[in-house]
Amino acid sequence: QHVERLTPHNIDKVVPRSFPPCMRRLMEGLRSERHLKHWGRLQIWLFLKGAGMSMEEELSYFKQNMTLKATAFDKEHAYHIKHIYGKVGHMKSKPPYGCAKLMSGDAPPNPGPGDYHGCPFKHFDPGPLSQLMRRYNVPDGSTKKILDLVKGHHYQLGCVEYFRATHPDSAADGVGNHPNAFYTESCKYWGA
Ligand code: SF4
Repeated sequence: QHVERLTPHNIDKVVPRSFPPCMRRLMEGLRSERHLKHWGRLQIWLFLKGAGMSMEEELSYFKQNMTLKATAFDKEHAYHIKHIYGKVGHMKSKPPYGCAKLMSGDAPPNPGPGDYHGCPFKHFDPGPLSQLMRRYNVPDGSTKKILDLVKGHHYQLGCVEYFRATHPDSAADGVGNHPNAFYTESCKYWGA
């Protein structure tokens, strides 16, 4: 089944509909700060590549959406984006991080204050997690199930429950293993 390729033109529509909470938060962080720290940049850049954004699109999108002057962007970030697409350095395209890696606490490290990377199901305390779920329109009954799962350290099942709550009657295939699987499954669900 065809899955809509992510581009700078459809991203605003697609983020709330089909991004997993980890990536949606990073996009919100980018919007509010017009900046992301190292691990946050890496997490979202790799994810967007996996969702089909071309290198040229990613370069121009982040150049426009970060406060850095264009010359500073070219100096500080353009090389890294080209690197993950395998166009410089080792010339190997870098795969997007899976859920286990994002939760591992080891490259990427656990997020601290001012960080947006990581997995909300793993890294948020119950209060902020339930606020996030409310903001993302998850019904209270599902949030309760999510909090119970997270309490039992079943973070990936928490993400599956989130997916089911926001995509009623879906199978949620592959959700909880990889953010890009979440994205693909969501696009299929919405017929996009
Ligand atoms: Fe993202 Fe995976 Fe966490 Fe879901 S379980 S929010 S896809 S890292």
